[in-house]
Amino acid sequence: MTGAAASDEAFLVEWLTVGVVRVDERLVVSSANAAAHAFADRQPGGMIGRSVIEAFVDRRIEEIARTARDTGSATGELVLRPPTGPTVVVRARRAPSGGAWLVIEDVSELRRLERIRTEFVDNLSHELRTPLTTIGLLAEALAREAETAAGGIPARMRDRIAKIEVETGHLGQMVNELLDLARIEGGGPLVMLDEVDLGRLARAAVERLRLFAERQGAELAVEVAPDLPLVRGDEDRLGQVLVNLLHNAVKFSPGGGLVTVRVRGLGDEVVTSVEDHGIGIAPADQARIFERFYKADRARVRGGGTGLGLAIARHIVESHGGRIWVVSEEGRGSTFSFSLPVAGREAG
Ligand code: ADP
Repeated sequence: MTGAAASDEAFLVEWLTVGVVRVDERLVVSSANAAAHAFADRQPGGMIGRSVIEAFVDRRIEEIARTARDTGSATGELVLRPPTGPTVVVRARRAPSGGAWLVIEDVSELRRLERIRTEFVDNLSHELRTPLTTIGLLAEALAREAETAAGGIPARMRDRIAKIEVETGHLGQMVNELLDLARIEGGGPLVMLDEVDLGRLARAAVERLRLFAERQGAELAVEVAPDLPLVRGDEDRLGQVLVNLLHNAVKFSPGGGLVTVRVRGLGDEVVTSVEDHGIGIAPADQARIFERFYKADRARVRGGGTGLGLAIARHIVESHGGRIWVVSEEGRGSTFSFSLPVAGREAG
């Protein structure tokens, strides 16, 4: 490299807003740009010749540098000079000629915006839930009164009441999903203490969706293998995965049809699947539907939806040490499955 190119590069590195630090084999800083000095709260040049721990007064950064030097790479997120300093992501790589490079990026603003979004969604969903519950209960009461009204009420009116119930159910489901997303992104821990009978959970989920399925003209069936082993996990959350999958199976079967839930043991796993004969999913979409907010074909989507249900389901299943996947053919239907390790294996 020519001298001019080298000094151009030095100029560029100096001008970056990410911190760039070079440490040698002993983890002593041999060069660092202006941004790195600002992160370390030091005068220009004040880091050079000091060990990483001395330069940043932070064990975690030293640990990241050491791990990168010894293993090839390391990354971590931390608050500098807690609690008031910036939140930074530190990425480190072993340098080809020994020692390591560290790149430090300020993510304070990003994390602040994420927090605001999460709080906003959380507050909004809570606010929406109360009136929605009231509307749902009123619609239910209306439906009951319509059944018993002296002389009966016109079929059209009964139909409209049923539609209000179904749509309120959709809205309730969306609000719950938004709330769940806020909780998941808030990083609340899962309670993994229950020994869960997925067969029982499947029957309970089917009961919960019976009314919705009837109104959509779909039929629900459950097949549970005998002597099903238990899994360890959070029963409410796993129930929610089943409800999400069933809800989708019915929602995306506009012509009705049979929706079957199967639960069986397979090796040291329990596999649960939900099969429908609905619209199916194009191969290109199959890879993406588990992402947050992804919906396969907006024009076709009936009854709305947030595009969150599957992202939440995947998060729950994976945090239980399981996997979730789909097999589908457009126009023929879909089978969503998830596997979870049986309780005995991990209990020990
Ligand atoms: P939502 O149902 O709220 O749109 P999901 O995350 O539950 O969000 O699903 C994402 C997308 O995956 C849906 O919008 C739909 O395009 C597709 N999908 C999910 N389940 C099925 C199914 N059983 N049949 C066909 N498409 C489905």
